[in-house]
Amino acid sequence: MNPRILAIETAILEKNDRLAEALRAEFAQRGIFAINVVSSPGSGKTALLEKTLDALAPEIPTAIIVGDLQTDNDARRLDGKGAKVLQITTDGYCHLEANMVRAALDRLGMDGLRLLVVENVGNLVCPASHDLGENMRVTLLSVTEGEDKPLKYPVMFKSSQVVVLTKIDLAEATGFDRETCLNNVRAIAPDAQIFELSARTGEGMDAWLSFLRQRVSAGNSIN
Ligand code: MG
Ligand code: ZN
Repeated sequence: MNPRILAIETAILEKNDRLAEALRAEFAQRGIFAINVVSSPGSGKTALLEKTLDALAPEIPTAIIVGDLQTDNDARRLDGKGAKVLQITTDGYCHLEANMVRAALDRLGMDGLRLLVVENVGNLVCPASHDLGENMRVTLLSVTEGEDKPLKYPVMFKSSQVVVLTKIDLAEATGFDRETCLNNVRAIAPDAQIFELSARTGEGMDAWLSFLRQRVSAGNSIN
């Protein structure tokens, strides 16, 4: 690669990292727990977040920032559940950056918030290298996608503290090989906490929700 282009890209990433660190410090100061939810398009991020907000927004002051290439369909699905919702339409941009989260929060306001959820643009490549100041990165993998996704997108899975297997109600119909998939996740992200659930049927949702409740109430501090 042209060294000049490389230098510019490095500078842009460093700037993003600095903004992300500043966000993380502010979240700590304000006692906000922030999660960054990533996956391929269609893995069920919005469906999981709909059910998550149904359960948690009434008890935990929550804001959600939704990134999509086009349309505000997802924000509309997440609206009316008691959380503050803001859609970022990236107009073709394939990931969110810390400055977009900053701008969204300036509009939403952070007073009194305890939980911030960012639904990233559906993409397992560049969101991996863009820190958004989150405390926890959550990568979704649906049973319809194939067991080898973690091997194909190792950077994303390696940088995630949580991996959620979604749509498990479809596992049998799609011939999903659970053991192989879990082994692949563990090979790439040995320390990640794994949840298996179906937002549609509710199976496995309790474990996910109580984990989130616990993390929010454990609080957040600069370390
Ligand atoms: Mg979505
Ligand atoms: Zn991108």
